[in-house]
Amino acid sequence: MKKKAANKIQDLQFFGEFGGVNPSISDSSTYTFLSAKTMSDTFEGNTEGCYLYSRHTSASNLYLGEAIAAMENTESATVFGSGMGAITSTLLQICKSGDHVVSSRTVYGGTYAFLKNFASQLSIGTSFVDITDLESIKKSINKDTKVIYCEAVSNPLLEVADLLEISKIAKQAGIQLIVDNTFSPLSVLPANLGADIVIHSITKFINGTSDTIAGVVCGSQDFINQLRDVNDGASMLLGSTLDSLRAASVLKNLRTLHIRIKKHSENAMYLAKMFEIDGVKTVYPGLASHPSHKLYSSFIDHEYGYGGLLTIDAGNLKKANTLMELMQEKNIGYLAVSLGFYKTLFSTPGSSTSSEIPEQEQKEMGLNEGLIRFSIGLDNDIKRTYEIIKECMKKVNLI
Ligand code: PLP
Repeated sequence: MKKKAANKIQDLQFFGEFGGVNPSISDSSTYTFLSAKTMSDTFEGNTEGCYLYSRHTSASNLYLGEAIAAMENTESATVFGSGMGAITSTLLQICKSGDHVVSSRTVYGGTYAFLKNFASQLSIGTSFVDITDLESIKKSINKDTKVIYCEAVSNPLLEVADLLEISKIAKQAGIQLIVDNTFSPLSVLPANLGADIVIHSITKFINGTSDTIAGVVCGSQDFINQLRDVNDGASMLLGSTLDSLRAASVLKNLRTLHIRIKKHSENAMYLAKMFEIDGVKTVYPGLASHPSHKLYSSFIDHEYGYGGLLTIDAGNLKKANTLMELMQEKNIGYLAVSLGFYKTLFSTPGSSTSSEIPEQEQKEMGLNEGLIRFSIGLDNDIKRTYEIIKECMKKVNLI
């Protein structure tokens, strides 16, 4: 039987320097060498287990990378100072001037803006496609394409990528499939479905305490070594490094991810069902009404459920804003971007996290201005939460 992702994290044994139950934190930017020869050998990548400088690697960052690689079932992983650091470094490691990316059009606004406005200046072109349309993915691949890029569950529309089929398309074309799995840790294991590289914004569920910005790239040992190469590695040279103190605190939070994800999913499922019964336009992959419900159900690990994200359509921005302000007043959660916190967070992506996407394109992809994205919290009594939200919805005439 295949070992469960959460069990793999649990089975890791990292001890501290003095026998501590947590590994010691590598509180140094630089490291001594007993001989000058070892220093030059290390820079040439010829010494195992030696650290040269913490922008390259540190023990704390390696521990966290190892734990997340175990979770994602990849050979290796390396951590970054942000999710965007992980995404941009990966794309720039693989794509050079003249290369081409096929990307889902519903990706995090920062990723979209990077591909559209920044990578294009380096002559890296992108075709944005409807990721649920396999034919359009195939058609968009050309001789210069190096990568298919998507989110397992997309931000903010919660579209589901058919990773098994998309990975077949990538393999046939001899290109790599990169999957951002930020919305669905533990529920989805993209590498098991054929993804070559898996990325997370650790900032979200993995860390779970909204106190840290961090990211991770999971992939083959060869690719992770490429990222760290002192001569041409994007992680080493672009310098989006995670601080060791933060890596150590994220590692501690990672250990409770399985419990948190189950609760986020349970609460989101309850609210999604109730909102739908109340006649509110609700999108949640766990609802039978979600266009990819069957597909998603076929590949998730049901122990962790359908995730903590749901959206509702309030009709227009004014109503959405009033509802969010009311919910904040009633202490249902916070009017804030980001996700994966103990408290519910809500925002209107059209005017926040996806505002980089031009209005016309937002319309084409179905991102309405009144769409509210909820990251459902770990509320102990979700029925009580629902009753309060219902009152707020009544006040704005949504129900
Ligand atoms: N990927 C997704 C799906 C996101 O939602 C975000 C941030 O919201 C990012 C990547 C970027 O991560 P970070 O904010 O850690 O740079």
